[in-house]
Amino acid sequence: LIQLYMPLNFLGVVYREIRQSLTDIERMFTLLNTHREVVDAPDAVDLPHGDIEVCFDRVEFAYDAKRPILFGVDFVIPAGKTVAVVGKSGSGKSTLARLLYRFYDVTGGAIRINRRDLREFRQSSLRAAIGIVPQDTVLFNESIFYNIHYGRPEATHEEVLAAAHAAQLTEFAALLPDGLATVVGERGLKLSGGEKQRVAIARALLKDPSLLIFDEATSALDSKTEKAIQASLDLATRGRTTLIIAHRLSTIMNADQILVMDAGRIIERGTHLELIRLSGRYAQMWAMQQHDAGENGFSSSGNA
Ligand code: ADP
Ligand code: MG
Repeated sequence: LIQLYMPLNFLGVVYREIRQSLTDIERMFTLLNTHREVVDAPDAVDLPHGDIEVCFDRVEFAYDAKRPILFGVDFVIPAGKTVAVVGKSGSGKSTLARLLYRFYDVTGGAIRINRRDLREFRQSSLRAAIGIVPQDTVLFNESIFYNIHYGRPEATHEEVLAAAHAAQLTEFAALLPDGLATVVGERGLKLSGGEKQRVAIARALLKDPSLLIFDEATSALDSKTEKAIQASLDLATRGRTTLIIAHRLSTIMNADQILVMDAGRIIERGTHLELIRLSGRYAQMWAMQQHDAGENGFSSSGNA
């Protein structure tokens, strides 16, 4: 009876945890032991610490076999460099981030890290090397401090405070009843999208990973806060392999390479200047955002 009871009880805990805390995709997958189809190979090895080079080699992907999403996506992020991805909503940008984090496996081609197929590494070691700020951050029903500290549980109190500061949370926290100890979520303070994004950014900065992934990480911030955080992000990404999915083109002008995606394909690639000179889709998007910025004081689509 005890043997039967234990797993059921465990599932009950997991279920309640998912229901009660505002879970975050990262933790939810961990609790549910990830997608069943994504399993470690029997001979999987730990990804060694250190610099990471990412290569998408003719990657094909479909969530559902009847509807392919990515077609021959091919690009490299050399160690320490930043690649930015832009494109219409639904073009497959977030899917790139999910595949790199291995929430799903590619259906064709391969993703390689330091020339080795991603699937050769233990998922735990892969995820330990990646800091991800997802498009929709959902936080635990715990304090802001806990939510940041989760990025690197062995970090010191001071390091957590520094990460909070870099993500522009210090002034915000000063206005809360218990500062960073204030509990957020259903049982506590309700945070805006922009505030949640800042907590997620602080968590990723604290983690200090070899590979950073930002998926529209500042899309819900007002332009003033975004500018203030930008300096911290620039510092964090310098010399670190980074994939940025960008919402506002102004935030990725300095990327080493920019990819423009459309309907699951890369249709243009180059630096900001090269793409402007190309007078193609990117140049068009750029002109449009400049126009909106002029009209709306540069905060056309964000309010924290
Ligand atoms: P983007 O980030 O560029 O807006 P996504 O990568 O999120 O685009 O999505 C690409 C396509 O995949 C979209 O058509 C979307 O509807 C579809 N899609 C995303 N997630 C899932 C999922 N879990 N199951 C099925 N289809 C999905
Ligand atoms: Mg997306």
